[in-house]
Amino acid sequence: MKIGCPKEIKPQEFRVGMTPNAAQEAVARGHEVIIERGAGLGSGFDDDAYVAAGARIVDTAAEVFATAEMIVKVKEPQAVERKMLREGQVLFTYLHLAPDPEQTKDLLASGCTAIAYETVTDANGGLPLLAPMSEVAGRLAPQVGAWTLQKANGGRGVLMGGVPGVGPAKVVVIGGGVVGTHAARIAAGMGADVTVLDRSLPRLRYLDDVFRGQFKNQYSTAGATAELIRDADMVIGAVLIPGAAAPKLITREQLSTMKPGAVLVDVAIDQGGCFETSKPTTHAEPIYEVDGIMHYCVANMPGAVARTSTIALGNATMPFMLALADKGWRQACQDDPHLLAGLNVHAGQLTYYAVGKALGIDV
Ligand code: NAD
Repeated sequence: MKIGCPKEIKPQEFRVGMTPNAAQEAVARGHEVIIERGAGLGSGFDDDAYVAAGARIVDTAAEVFATAEMIVKVKEPQAVERKMLREGQVLFTYLHLAPDPEQTKDLLASGCTAIAYETVTDANGGLPLLAPMSEVAGRLAPQVGAWTLQKANGGRGVLMGGVPGVGPAKVVVIGGGVVGTHAARIAAGMGADVTVLDRSLPRLRYLDDVFRGQFKNQYSTAGATAELIRDADMVIGAVLIPGAAAPKLITREQLSTMKPGAVLVDVAIDQGGCFETSKPTTHAEPIYEVDGIMHYCVANMPGAVARTSTIALGNATMPFMLALADKGWRQACQDDPHLLAGLNVHAGQLTYYAVGKALGIDV
């Protein structure tokens, strides 16, 4: 199959849909890989690395779209890219169609077959192509929070691990799922005193069993949250209620109960945020202050570490990408119900119930 990977054009997006290693695997199986010139530069992969992997470099996205039978990307296709999609072509990327009627309309009109990373499932009921980005955002959260805690950045001037004779920072992580667990591990690894709150007792049991005292955990109630945040230097918001906006777990009024210069890192900002005072920020201006409390609310945190994120995403997408290339989308989806769960659009038909329900389109 001819597999094409264009350069990402969404602002601030430095990831790329295919690593040279993934290209090499596809080429070894007899597929042709076409990469737009410079596509990997934002992630530290130059054109030579793709050429060495056996891929062909072309000058424009138009050539990639015109030649490839399958397009592999990171972000949803932008309007100019959607115009280049055609009937019978497979698109494999993040789509997030439910809040995006314009994109949905264009994908339906194109006649393409669109498989969305975010709805591919796994045998444990998880979302294997979303998980790597949650792992990245979770591990990044204490790192950006620690930077924000520095005095010059508006924070309390507290060091995560303290030093001999001075106690560590107190970190509260709300939500102990993928993001929260990775955040807690890194914060604890930096020497902070960490408590994870979750509403799921099985999850708290799992954290207790696996992490054996590296960090504490507590059942999440409004009362427990209020008590813990009073003493916290950093609060990391990592909750998710599938299919719903994030619940607001810290109100503006409560900010006055916190220590001045404490830091809120709202990872759940892409679902509306779990603190009342959160508003989305960008990597260019990531932090702001409300009532003496510093906020970090970047909605695409993995973009800050594009190389790690690209490789992590590539590791997760590659087996599916190879199955699609080896068997064709129809057979690959017939063989794997988890890949089939990713099918959102085919030949002008919406094929994903939740998107249809959100947009009022028949499925
Ligand atoms: P997840 O489903 O693995 O975990 C969410 C956890 O929140 C679950 O354990 C759940 O029990 C818990 N929870 C729900 N309500 C709660 C409450 N009231 N109190 C405490 N815990 C509660 O989800 P995830 O993959 O960890 O993602 C978490 C959030 O991070 C999502 O909103 C996701 O979209 C977001 N995210 C953001 C970025 C970014 O760049 N900003 C990147 C990746 C993920």
